[in-house]
Amino acid sequence: MLCFIRKVKIPLVAIWLPGRHPPTKRATIQSEVARISLYDLDLDALEAQLAAWGEPRAQARALAREIWRYLYREYSITPHDITPLPSSLQSQLHEEVSIPHPTLLRETLSPEGSTRKVLLGLEDGAQIEAVLLRYRRRYTACVSTQVGCACGCRFCATGHMGFVRQLARGEIVAQVIHFQRWLSEQDQAVSNVVFMGMGEPLLNLEETLGAIQRLTDPRGLAFAPGRITISTAGVAPGIVRLAEIHHHWPTKLAISLHAATDDLRDTLMPINKAYPLEDLYAAVATYTSQTGRRVLFEWVMIADINDSPEQAEALATWLRGLPAHVNLIELNPTAGYAGAPSSPEAVTAFSAILDRYAIPHTMRQRRGGSIYAGCGQLCVPSTRAEGTGPPPM
Ligand code: SAH
Ligand code: SF4
Repeated sequence: MLCFIRKVKIPLVAIWLPGRHPPTKRATIQSEVARISLYDLDLDALEAQLAAWGEPRAQARALAREIWRYLYREYSITPHDITPLPSSLQSQLHEEVSIPHPTLLRETLSPEGSTRKVLLGLEDGAQIEAVLLRYRRRYTACVSTQVGCACGCRFCATGHMGFVRQLARGEIVAQVIHFQRWLSEQDQAVSNVVFMGMGEPLLNLEETLGAIQRLTDPRGLAFAPGRITISTAGVAPGIVRLAEIHHHWPTKLAISLHAATDDLRDTLMPINKAYPLEDLYAAVATYTSQTGRRVLFEWVMIADINDSPEQAEALATWLRGLPAHVNLIELNPTAGYAGAPSSPEAVTAFSAILDRYAIPHTMRQRRGGSIYAGCGQLCVPSTRAEGTGPPPM
């Protein structure tokens, strides 16, 4: 059980969740006012908290459900919004809990209006980006799982930032609620969630799973697990873990492959040294056989790097026996990486080889590139040398 089920004020360091990195200096200074984050609690923990504050059990259960409804159906962002509570509990909530709704620091809309990128400020001053993509009347929230990323993929702006800290489950859920709250004002709702923002979800697995539990809870946001996609750069043990828990959370899986030989993948994605292609294949085979699900493979097309006929052949060979779909993605420009998008001819030739091997694939349309909201372009703006990279398309 988490250690915050206590009425006393405790130092922030004591409620730092497993998997989170030590608090920043600023957070330590704020320890005097450390409060329970309501998004971090599941319904049972919330009920236990209310009981610990002296509410009789039956009352605690009813109140917990009421608070829960306000959080996940009304998208309340301060304890004051939760109006029908007894006034004693209102002031207790106000004093002891926070709803860690991130502060909107900047919002950017793409010229055609289909992509909305937000820069969000967290309680300790850390910043993250998240994106809402509209396709016809469907809205997909692309959320971050870490501040920065330790994986250091050469072509990725988040990788260039380096790793800052893990996000807590509540901070992940709060990004979805941010968009949901905005959409609800227009009678719309988030239809899909993709863990394709900043960070590597399988290197923050417990908090990512905690967020998925919260998102799929039928008493709350009630997302169907099939509307949630986890994307990984290839953390093999995490993929096996997802296979093991698939019956609970049958989410979709995407793998950022980008190279089908170890020598090339090592240079593009340093994580390949920890989990080389053979290990990755074994993990994916376990996943597909245990879940019966097809896996989506992402392949960023980089001119003269990974778009050769040899790489296409290697990819087709590597995929043999796996139920797979390949997404060929146009490289988005990022400052700090000099690679260029593949030419249309190279893409056509690559695609023809996949056709020859009967590998299902699509060329993914670039989205959000003009506002640096595309795949691999998310980072904290101070670390993005906007304007110094290749011009956005
Ligand atoms: N860490 C996870 C989740 C982030 S998803 C992962 O890597 O899968 C980000 C997606 O954008 C990944 O598929 C990544 O490979 C891709 N990507 C990174 N940099 C890119 C770029 N410059 N252009 C296009 N896609 C990029
Ligand atoms: Fe991290 Fe994914 Fe970017 Fe690689 S592509 S650096 S794993 S966010």
